[in-house]
Amino acid sequence: MKAKVIKSTGSWYICESEEGQIRARIKGKFRIQDLNTTNPLAVGDVVFLKKEEGLETYMIHEIEDRKNYIIRRSPRNPHKNHIIASNLDQLFLVGTMSMPRTSTGFMDRMLMIAEMHHIPATLIINKRDIYKDKDFERFDLIKKTYENIGYGVELISAHNEEDVERLNGLLKDKTTLFAGHSGVGKSTIINQLIPDLDLQTKELSSYTHKGKHTTTYSEMHLLPVGGYIVDTPGIKELAAVDIEPEEVSHYFTEMKDLLPNCKFNNCLHREEPKCAVRQAYMDDLLADSRYGSYLKILEEVSSIDYWKR
Ligand code: GDP
Ligand code: ZN
Repeated sequence: MKAKVIKSTGSWYICESEEGQIRARIKGKFRIQDLNTTNPLAVGDVVFLKKEEGLETYMIHEIEDRKNYIIRRSPRNPHKNHIIASNLDQLFLVGTMSMPRTSTGFMDRMLMIAEMHHIPATLIINKRDIYKDKDFERFDLIKKTYENIGYGVELISAHNEEDVERLNGLLKDKTTLFAGHSGVGKSTIINQLIPDLDLQTKELSSYTHKGKHTTTYSEMHLLPVGGYIVDTPGIKELAAVDIEPEEVSHYFTEMKDLLPNCKFNNCLHREEPKCAVRQAYMDDLLADSRYGSYLKILEEVSSIDYWKR
């Protein structure tokens, strides 16, 4: 029987199948792609189940090839990876203009990760109900910047029914990863989309504990309109990716097409002569904030410390 892994509790996997939710485990030696991972299966994996002889439980005996997956370094073992989720159709990057204020630096970092994994991303800017003029002004600039380079941008309030309906339209029949700092309203939005779920939300005062999470496992939630949401812990680890300095610009979607026009093929687009990226920046064709984020990420991945993390 075919099923989808929607939760992992260590040795047991909760799978969604035609017969509803089923508990299953891996038995014996299980062959999968050699990714040097701490978890052989991740939420989103499509698996095949067999009933265990004489038991009520199921055994996972096969996994379908993953369309894509998001991986991070294991927090406990730096030589191993942890698969956060697989078979994703899109990323919803949830941010806010205030309470808390999401930086474009963070957005660009997350968008870079989405590009690395070939996952289309949409910016979801939440809490519009509390914005002041200056927040709307900042939002307008952000909307322009990101729509210009091909990303969808939605302004919503988790408390507004029409906004939630609009999100439902974008989520229907897709598997969507929700990412964003703690406190931006991910759980609140998910609770609105799936009223039966009742995820715990945090009090406004507690979101200073950025990155603090109770679980290290991702979880998938079935949407009433069809499709799944993946709620991921550990946004910090997610942002820690192994990447060469030369690669960074490949994942800035508006820079990608300019690269063949740089004089040097190992150009890092800083001070090099005849650099097409820098030229675009000078000509105001590349947003200041985006170029700034690029330089910051470049500096980070070029530093020795980065590789020692
Ligand atoms: P998470 O850490 O991203 O899951 O954030 P939570 O869902 O726990 O929300 C953090 C706080 O923001 C809670 O106090 C929510 O009630 C509040 N919140 C979430 N969405 C909205 C919104 O659209 N407007 C307002 N005013 N507050 C919101
Ligand atoms: Zn260049």
